[in-house]
Amino acid sequence: MNDKATKQKACREEDCQEQWNAISPDLRQQCDNFVYCPFCSSEMVTRCSVCGETISDADYRFCPWCGADFQG
Ligand SMILES: [Zn+2]
Ligand SMILES: [Zn+2]
Repeated sequence: MNDKATKQKACREEDCQEQWNAISPDLRQQCDNFVYCPFCSSEMVTRCSVCGETISDADYRFCPWCGADFQG
């Protein structure tokens, strides 16, 4: 696998996805430091941008679910 991928902080709540999608890319980058969702206060999870699965350890260099490379 050599897909370029990023780790993204995301909220698990489906109700929040619309609001997250409406955020500008610049602001979205800052959100990667968030611990709690600003829309529902749920704890944020780290996700693979390629497969969307939750990543349990933010230090992973490859996605354990799809093999995407986070290092690029
Ligand atoms: Zn939320
Ligand atoms: Zn993945």
